[in-house]
Amino acid sequence: MSATLTRAIDARQAVRQAVLVEPRRLELRDVAPPRPGRGEVLIEVRCALSCGTDLKAFRRGHPLWPMPTPFGHEFSGVVAQVGAGVTTFKPGDEVMAAPTAPCGECFYCGRGQENLCADAVGRMVLGAYADLLLLPAHVVARNTFIKPPQVPFEEAALLEPLSCVVHAQAMAAPQSHETVLIIGAGAFGLLHLLVARAAAVREIAVLGRGARRLKWAADLGADQVFDAQDAGAVGKVADLNGGFGPDLVIECTGQLDAWADAFARVRRGGRVVFFGGCPPGTALSIDTRRMHYDNLTLLAPFHYRPRDVRVAYELLIARKLGAGAVINAHRRLGELDEVFAMLERGEALKCAVIP
Ligand SMILES: [Zn+2]
Ligand SMILES: [Zn+2]
Repeated sequence: MSATLTRAIDARQAVRQAVLVEPRRLELRDVAPPRPGRGEVLIEVRCALSCGTDLKAFRRGHPLWPMPTPFGHEFSGVVAQVGAGVTTFKPGDEVMAAPTAPCGECFYCGRGQENLCADAVGRMVLGAYADLLLLPAHVVARNTFIKPPQVPFEEAALLEPLSCVVHAQAMAAPQSHETVLIIGAGAFGLLHLLVARAAAVREIAVLGRGARRLKWAADLGADQVFDAQDAGAVGKVADLNGGFGPDLVIECTGQLDAWADAFARVRRGGRVVFFGGCPPGTALSIDTRRMHYDNLTLLAPFHYRPRDVRVAYELLIARKLGAGAVINAHRRLGELDEVFAMLERGEALKCAVIP
């Protein structure tokens, strides 16, 4: 007797799996369907979302994803099979999940900093651009959830990026009387905009590049948008908050010059969130006088903890953020090359890839 509960998947029939073979070379390979082991869950992917990290890896590789690597890490789907010992999910359940989970036992987990657990980043689920995806036991146990029927699969697939944003804003704790400046009008910048708006902060400004992105930011509810290429942008940021400057600056580009800009633009006594990770080997030079005498608080949140995933899940199932608006392109799995071409041209924030 098999301990694996099975929905109709023919073990002999190949399924499609996108593999990043080397930078700029994606292959859609036929592979044998994976079988879930103890504690594991196999899902039929219904939606995978493109992510800025995917685009970075596509362009220049990723230190944690040696190539060739299965590709894609934001997803939702339907349970196809469950391994022995799985009692919380059954075939046919619609699910959403974060692609990592902490061990719950190490030094960092013991201190509530599960985002720093070696398992949290080292054992990421990769391969969401595929027909089927195997969720490992630690992800099934801690960061997999039932998707309510009213949440579209593509919105459910936002669980991972939204968890990162929730974690960052939990650290930054924007207040209702504050003015927030978001630097970067990509998908992460705009998710920050939506979460800050849900926190009812007084004013949100977005500093970004390009008319198309700034229009998206305005459409999603930014009170002001500034074009970083406009010579007057610095003055407009300084004018925020009655001329004191923003209380909180959230940097979402992962570019060193934007980090420096975030440090320079925040008001005295304000907080900076360095959200976007910069390329390895970069260093930020800090004016210590400004840091000290202007009493700045610098925060650099990384990744997410299970409690952030839970909050992100609640936000998504409540459907009050309008988070689906950051997904503004749709393609089939066979069109993955076009997805990345489109992302490179800046024509989409996030693309839903449907098998
Ligand atoms: Zn992502
Ligand atoms: Zn741990």
